[in-house]
Amino acid sequence: MADTTAVPPNSLFESLTTSWEAALNEKRQREVIVGGIAAYCYFHEINQRGLETASLIYVRQAIEELLQAIRPRQQTGQAPHSCSFCGGTEPQVRLAAGANGFICDSCVRTLGEVFKQEL
Ligand SMILES: [Zn+2]
Repeated sequence: MADTTAVPPNSLFESLTTSWEAALNEKRQREVIVGGIAAYCYFHEINQRGLETASLIYVRQAIEELLQAIRPRQQTGQAPHSCSFCGGTEPQVRLAAGANGFICDSCVRTLGEVFKQEL
């Protein structure tokens, strides 16, 4: 029984991409991810492999944009090298790198005093 009210897949996809493009432009990537996955499932059900893949491409695009928005924050939020003993950072202290951490000039002096006393 043919459903004559069904929107032809290509026109449906066209109208979806129009709204996805708008959503991507307005940084509403989540809408594209949700809508894109729903469309992917729908086009898979009705055996439209090309549209199924094209929907996933929009989902990927939205995910990549979200990741790009997150990455710079992680980079700037990354802690600068710091002394493994006192937490001091440059330029307040001078750091020397070890195999698994750093030590500052102040801690080197302090530890030097401590070890001298013990000897
Ligand atoms: Zn230190």
